[in-house]
Amino acid sequence: MDGRRLGVGVALVAALMGVAAAQQAGTAGGPAGGPAPAQATSPVPPLIREGVTERISTHVHVIPDNGVSLVPNVGIVVGSKATLVIDTGLGPRNGATVMREVATISKNAELHLVTTHVHPEHDLGAGGFPATTKMIRSKDQVDEIAASGLEMAKRFAGFSTLHAELLQGADFRTADVTFEKEHTLDLGGVTVRVLAMGFNHTRGDTATFVEPDAVLFSGDVSMAWLPSVGAGAHLNQWLTSQDRFLALQPSRVVPSHGPMGDAAIMTKTKAFVSTIQKRAAELKQAGKTVEETMATLQAELEPIYGRSPRMAGPIRAAYTQAP
Ligand SMILES: [Zn+2]
Repeated sequence: MDGRRLGVGVALVAALMGVAAAQQAGTAGGPAGGPAPAQATSPVPPLIREGVTERISTHVHVIPDNGVSLVPNVGIVVGSKATLVIDTGLGPRNGATVMREVATISKNAELHLVTTHVHPEHDLGAGGFPATTKMIRSKDQVDEIAASGLEMAKRFAGFSTLHAELLQGADFRTADVTFEKEHTLDLGGVTVRVLAMGFNHTRGDTATFVEPDAVLFSGDVSMAWLPSVGAGAHLNQWLTSQDRFLALQPSRVVPSHGPMGDAAIMTKTKAFVSTIQKRAAELKQAGKTVEETMATLQAELEPIYGRSPRMAGPIRAAYTQAP
């Protein structure tokens, strides 16, 4: 759910990725540095666009989110015998849009689906996919769905009548394949590794690495924006995850929201997390309260990362987790 603070995202992109990326993100609406648009009044509906699918490498296509709130970057990996889709869009209608895009680039009857995490815009469009689709889930995702069910979908449905319509009857698709740590998939001439990433943004974060193309779908675990740390997730896990991604040596990184990039996305995420961990520990040791620590760190980091409500969550986590 990281497109929610679009204005902020744009500001961060400007700070992190430079002017070109900011201009690109700026097309999504919401003035750079301006206030985040309220979800209920978002001028851009959370619909996956048609006819904009980009081929980014030999086997990998992406339907870009165009910076729109609650729209994911959708991945389509095409091999000689099977196709893998990464993320579904919000509700079956968006899932059906994804399938129409898939049909324009692949004739493979064998279709696999994986989601970066179980938040509604990533997972609850699966109902728009054919019944024969093979759903791949990490054990962590299965457990997370069992524990929280459609809680967040109900919240999202309250954002507007369109959101409610899109989520009408949407439910989690049962896994056909489950895995503990890693699942390897041969699509025919293309090997894909689906990785369980531990608890970062959600309990069931997954990432997908398309081996021959060195393209990484990093989910919400590495984005050009500041981390959205799941309640209860440890920042050390975020650092471990960035290192795991870096070790893959991806040439292209496709986050589940926002601009695509390269390994610099991980390096920047790592630098941010390390900095707040170090400074929060120092300030806590010096007897500062969590509020004082947040104020100090936000002031220190604003010149680099811009003013961002996304900063409070990770800083609070860093303070709580510091010795
Ligand atoms: Zn999310």
